[in-house]
Amino acid sequence: MENRMNRLIEQLKKNDLDSAFITSIANVFYLSNFYTDPHERLVAVYIDQTNNPVLIVPAMEMNDAKNAGWSFDMIGYHDHENVWELFFNHLKTFDKLPEVIGIEYDHLIVDRHQALKNILPHAQFKNTTNILNDLRVIKSKQEYTLLKQAAALADFGVKTGIEAIREGISELEIVAKIEYELKKQGVQQMSFATTVISGTKTASPHGVPSQTTIEKGDLVLFDLGVVFEGYCSDITRTVAFHSITDEQRKIYETVLEAEEKAIAAVEIGRSVGELDKIARDHIAAAGYGEYFTHRLGHGIGIDVHEFPSMHGENTLPLAEGMAFTIEPGIYVPEAGGVRIEDMVFVTKKGGESLTEYPKDLQIIK
Ligand code: MN
Ligand code: MN
Repeated sequence: MENRMNRLIEQLKKNDLDSAFITSIANVFYLSNFYTDPHERLVAVYIDQTNNPVLIVPAMEMNDAKNAGWSFDMIGYHDHENVWELFFNHLKTFDKLPEVIGIEYDHLIVDRHQALKNILPHAQFKNTTNILNDLRVIKSKQEYTLLKQAAALADFGVKTGIEAIREGISELEIVAKIEYELKKQGVQQMSFATTVISGTKTASPHGVPSQTTIEKGDLVLFDLGVVFEGYCSDITRTVAFHSITDEQRKIYETVLEAEEKAIAAVEIGRSVGELDKIARDHIAAAGYGEYFTHRLGHGIGIDVHEFPSMHGENTLPLAEGMAFTIEPGIYVPEAGGVRIEDMVFVTKKGGESLTEYPKDLQIIK
């Protein structure tokens, strides 16, 4: 935790920021090891160049924060109190008020920005989103281990879902079975709403599970992940039930080849955009270019979707310790859709797939 805060302080100095006021759940957790969903209440880490961090939390959560390892100052507030006034009183205990403050432009709501401006009318506010992204994009050994454990649970979830397939079972029943079995394994939270979709519904990349039942000849697509000790997983597998058409088989093989090609191309120094292009070119060569309608993937860590966005125009070079998904798909309205997604970690030797559930075409009988 202190190591992370020290790295942030280095960046504050480099970027001429007196301090940073951090409020996103993920960044607060990253800096404090305290993971909390405060809903509409404010939780923030305030940290300045002189290393006087303070955690602002609802009073009822102060003990939880302490138990999570926070050993610095805290401002605990009750629901009837004005938290901005308490924060300002805290700032006044220092020699000098901050003049340039970093905030997360992609997160801090206008109301709170206004409240900060009200207590610090002479301060200037700058964006710290990039600074935090750059810190979080390279995962430590410990973060790698947590992602690997989250990935293993996602593998288990897919296995459970595929084993649950039978004629007439609904998509939502399979969702329930997956989550029931994962909860028995100690999983408290999924990293997003579990997706099980079948038949022509698979042609929508963001299809939603319903009471639609699985029938012979359906493709069935699973997309799911868990949160394990604050770190997310994300996997997609597509299987056929009973039979598959020639076109569906061709789509499946094309997506699988594109995905494997992109993973094999992971190499330190190669750009994110090149990976997207490798998968996209393969799919286009098979005649399905217009049906691959989204980016190749996304960074993954404390957030299930985080920096970097794995799209074709991204020139960011891959570096050791990055973690992201590779998830090409082909979605043909009449034939159905196939997506195959793995979490990949960048090592000196190339891309290591953290999710390991088999990918060869399965026709479930
Ligand atoms: Mn994903
Ligand atoms: Mn996914």
